[in-house]
Amino acid sequence: MHEHEHDHGHHHHQNTPHAVTFDDCIRFHGHSCPGLASGYRAATAAMEALGVVRPEDEDLVAICETDACGVDAIQVIAGTTAGKGNLIIHDYGKHAFTFYNRKDGKAVRITFHRNEQTETGDFSALRAKVFSGKATAEETEEFHKLMHKATVKVLHAPADSIMKIEKVTMDAPKKARIFASVTCECCGESVADAKTRQVNGKRVCIPCAEGTHPEKKE
Ligand SMILES: [Zn+2]
Ligand SMILES: [Zn+2]
Repeated sequence: MHEHEHDHGHHHHQNTPHAVTFDDCIRFHGHSCPGLASGYRAATAAMEALGVVRPEDEDLVAICETDACGVDAIQVIAGTTAGKGNLIIHDYGKHAFTFYNRKDGKAVRITFHRNEQTETGDFSALRAKVFSGKATAEETEEFHKLMHKATVKVLHAPADSIMKIEKVTMDAPKKARIFASVTCECCGESVADAKTRQVNGKRVCIPCAEGTHPEKKE
């Protein structure tokens, strides 16, 4: 049995009743790009798979295995943000995103197939040229055209053709705890108790302990 089935992934994501759109992602991120589009697709697919609707739902946690563009779309679309503590970044340099629903313990992990348009040697060479400022006007235009094409493809391609959505089992990510504040005995700034270190009998903040505290300009 081999059905000739046309995928309607395109319609499908337009009908998703999210108040926030890809345009909101672009506004937040500063530009449109394939990575942002990947994050958008990952977030919408995960929310659908887990039956989560934003913004009523704050039980969703996103674990991103990259710190690149896609993370911004995930914050906008899924409402899993750095400040709320429900965005976790383990930068393994992978286009993989796991979403965990605290309500029922269900989780999905989404990985992206290799993007043949933007992960070729030619495209990388062109990108390097553009970002080093050595590209001609034509090359820059060509680069932006290709980026746009790749972005549109990621936004509208049937889910199966660009990503893999797998149910996974995992422990609930730790919740952000509220710490008591103490004063760093070196810089005098307020710091969460649990984030201090003992150095020569003094309780100091991590930057002071490591000598990486930004120095004041005179
Ligand atoms: Zn980007
Ligand atoms: Zn300090």
